[in-house]
Amino acid sequence: MGSRKPLIAGNWKMNLTLSQAVELVNAVGTNRAKSDDVDVLVAPPFTFLGAVRQEASAARIFLSAQNMHFEIKGAYTGEISGRMLQDVGCTHVILGHSERRSIFGEKSQTVDLKVKAAVMIGLIPIVCIGESLEEREAEKTFEIIKGQLEGSLQNFLADDKMPRSTIIAYEPVWAIGTGRTATPGQAQEVHAFIRGWIAEKFGKPTSDEIRILYGGSVTPANIKDLMREPDIDGALVGGASLKADTFLPIVNFLAA
Ligand code: PEP
Repeated sequence: MGSRKPLIAGNWKMNLTLSQAVELVNAVGTNRAKSDDVDVLVAPPFTFLGAVRQEASAARIFLSAQNMHFEIKGAYTGEISGRMLQDVGCTHVILGHSERRSIFGEKSQTVDLKVKAAVMIGLIPIVCIGESLEEREAEKTFEIIKGQLEGSLQNFLADDKMPRSTIIAYEPVWAIGTGRTATPGQAQEVHAFIRGWIAEKFGKPTSDEIRILYGGSVTPANIKDLMREPDIDGALVGGASLKADTFLPIVNFLAA
């Protein structure tokens, strides 16, 4: 953890019921450390966003969606635009999660269109990147990460400018939902590479401010060790964010 404010983000994926979601936001709001030293964010399913909005805002919890379409409106049956997300209180949107890439065939080129659309309307993108197990074992991790950064942030490269509020989430695919966490050293190595790439393309002042989250089987047991690393600025948490018992100790890692 460097000088950047840590961010703990919960990605609820397609889980929980509406009442469980409201209860969880309330429990996190009531029991999170009183200081504002850590930013907290939750990304509920689309249909819960409006319902948890008030509770989240009262609890100083940022609200994020898990995906969006790159157009503002139009004939895109089944899709949700960034403006619609803002209408229900979202300030952030997760883009290019590995499940979207691997299950729904989302390519970096599409992620880039979404990042561009989000930034244009003032939504903060949380851009996910990460290598598969095969890619890591073939020692292609850095090549894959570089390719995903170049592909997903094309519009920033074209403008020669990366908004400093942009958040990158490094999530090795082999660590997501598997119980197999990257060691703090493995994660730090990739985070440092990502920060170096940002510095090279957009300058050191920008790279010094961009928050890079780690995601992949983060738990109350490993959060502190991960957060000791200089380039790990927070966590994107899946499974452990679904229960107050496991999410709260992660949110309150500084106080523990
Ligand atoms: C995720 O899907 O973003 C994630 C990190 O999941 P988990 O914490 O369950 O590995």
